[in-house]
Amino acid sequence: MQIYADNAATTKMSRTAVEAMLPYMEEIYGNPSSLHSVGQKANEALADARKRMAACLGCEAREIIFTSGGSEADNHAITSAARLGEKQGKKHIISTAFEHHAVLHTLKRLEKEGFEITLLDVHEDGLVTAKQVSDAIRPDTCLVTVMYANNEIGTIQPIEEIGAVCREKGVLFHTDAVQAAGHLHIDVQAQNIDMLSLSAHKFHGPKGIGALYAKRGIRLTNLIEGGAQEQGRRAGTENIPAIMGMAAALEEACAHIDENAARVSALRDRLIAGLSEIPHGVLNGDAVRRLPGNVNFCFEGIEGESLLLLLDDKGVCASSGSACTSGSLDPSHVLLAIGRPHEIAHGSLRLTLSEETTAEEVDYMIRAVSDVVEYLRSMSPVWRDLTDGRRSFVTK
Ligand SMILES: *Cc1c(COP(=O)(O)O)cnc(C)c1O
Repeated sequence: MQIYADNAATTKMSRTAVEAMLPYMEEIYGNPSSLHSVGQKANEALADARKRMAACLGCEAREIIFTSGGSEADNHAITSAARLGEKQGKKHIISTAFEHHAVLHTLKRLEKEGFEITLLDVHEDGLVTAKQVSDAIRPDTCLVTVMYANNEIGTIQPIEEIGAVCREKGVLFHTDAVQAAGHLHIDVQAQNIDMLSLSAHKFHGPKGIGALYAKRGIRLTNLIEGGAQEQGRRAGTENIPAIMGMAAALEEACAHIDENAARVSALRDRLIAGLSEIPHGVLNGDAVRRLPGNVNFCFEGIEGESLLLLLDDKGVCASSGSACTSGSLDPSHVLLAIGRPHEIAHGSLRLTLSEETTAEEVDYMIRAVSDVVEYLRSMSPVWRDLTDGRRSFVTK
């Protein structure tokens, strides 16, 4: 038995996406900047993919630029807004404490350059409010960047309301929608979004490709100098096969978004109910306002790493949080941001489901996690201290 429950880290490519790529490796392999017919065929495909991506997001084709993935799109959006702000003497940026590192590290770099960064506190339920954003906006604020849905705990932020606040105050609004795209309805106009990042490998497309939506009129800074591709905003020959795979994957995901969300969230709730039976565990993030496939628990008295290794032995591929931080012994910045104490933040488990997950797999995971948690606790000195009363429980 092998169960893949790490879909927030990456997803398996869909057949549709794979098949959409093949012709652009073997037949239509031209460079879209070439003037001859092989190049022009590639160029037509590129324009078509851009149009189809735009249709899924509710924007215009020319507002989409292709990037190497979510990280690049985040870097590009935030750096561009900072450069625009700088010109007007505005060097204050608002974000949240639980963003992806692609956002947090870009902000760190800007801070070293003299920008002032306000990271909003995240409530225990994993949410920030539009009121918090509104209260933090100052006359010198040039950007608000708040993620659409969190990659570790899956909570979905009130994007439309935050966008409305930013629009009213004339501040650019960027959202890292890498976990949301293809899984939740996105309409950049209705939701007042100025810039949005997405990444194909999070919705069954290929790795190494993503997109940045930037509202018409926003001047993007060049991160990569070179040719005039992407309207002079991102140099380098376009990765046509990956772009075609991404467009096909996004279209497919968006065409089935409601039925997928209904199916996957029913399985998520079954998994949450099953894991809630384990004593001294706690669900991280709001139970309702969360991504259809995201389940994230902390279990007291155990180490997340050992839990993951033993689950892997039982055929369950899980994660302790973000793939980027696993391997480090620091507890997740996301769990600390929602106020989980260090001692329980270490015992975290993220299981992220996909459209292919079955009810049998969910039931298997409930048994596997329960068994492994019980086994690890039976050997844990911390657990013994807790049960002997030498230490007190943080959870119920
Ligand atoms: C995966 C992820 C990214 C990074 O995307 P890549 O395409 O892997 O660079 C950024 N933000 C969030 C929220 C993510 O989940």
